Amino acid sequence: MPSRHRRSSLPLLTILLLINFACNLPSLAVTPSDSQRATDLMSPPAASTRTSIPSSPIRTAHPNPTSAVERTPAPPPTSIPPTPVGSLDDMLATCPTAEEIERFQTDFDIFFDPAVGLPPFACEDANHQLAIYQALRAMSALYFDQPLPWTSYSLYDWLRGAISGVVLTTTDISYCCDGQNRIVLKADLLSQPSYAYWYDPQSGIGLMSLVGLIVHEARHAEIGGHTCGNSDDATLEEMGAWGVQYYLFLWMAEHTPPSLLTPTQREAAMAHAETALGRICNP
Ligand SMILES: [Zn+2]
Repeated sequence: MPSRHRRSSLPLLTILLLINFACNLPSLAVTPSDSQRATDLMSPPAASTRTSIPSSPIRTAHPNPTSAVERTPAPPPTSIPPTPVGSLDDMLATCPTAEEIERFQTDFDIFFDPAVGLPPFACEDANHQLAIYQALRAMSALYFDQPLPWTSYSLYDWLRGAISGVVLTTTDISYCCDGQNRIVLKADLLSQPSYAYWYDPQSGIGLMSLVGLIVHEARHAEIGGHTCGNSDDATLEEMGAWGVQYYLFLWMAEHTPPSLLTPTQREAAMAHAETALGRICNP
């Protein structure tokens, strides 16, 4: 299996991500507005925030986050089981196999809009298509010692039930969904060199940020749009797009096997969770 070279990335990418991360209401042929873009950012957390976060700030306040919200029955598991991985770093240092890519293309309608002129798939940093496949590999590899609060399925199988696919195209912001229940991601977003890593401390982002965006947008397909202002959620209990994004990162930080993520990555996941929680008006 070929190895992929890593390279450093620029703090400036954080700014690019700030501009690009966004979401929108489901099932609309939207032309997202600038005001939505301005208010629906998912910003990487500042370093000072990361170090000040308590280890488990919310679970005691919301001991039973679910009674919830199994919106979509997941389809049966795919015939090709995910390959167990020791750590996400190890996995992301390798290229997706042809079998894995075939599995993802079977499970999801993955459409790379030819009008965008994306480069062909290549297992090298900043390749848009690679970023999608690596995100799906990671979602398939992520497993937890407790069920996710919004579904009894695995993260990957939940995603399969929630959406039919992923579109990479030219759009002001990423949103859910097109007429075929595919989340629509801003293609430019996926050329971030930091997506070669699960988390890149220099930029404050990484593939985990893309996974958070995918989960956020896919949740819109199940539960609808935001409920507080244009782009925030009213409560954590409603388990909206920000709520599941919060719990996703909390579960990454606290409910993954010890070898899967590094302590730094867990700290980053907690910071990402706090950022998502900040988008809930009455948590
Ligand atoms: Zn949203």
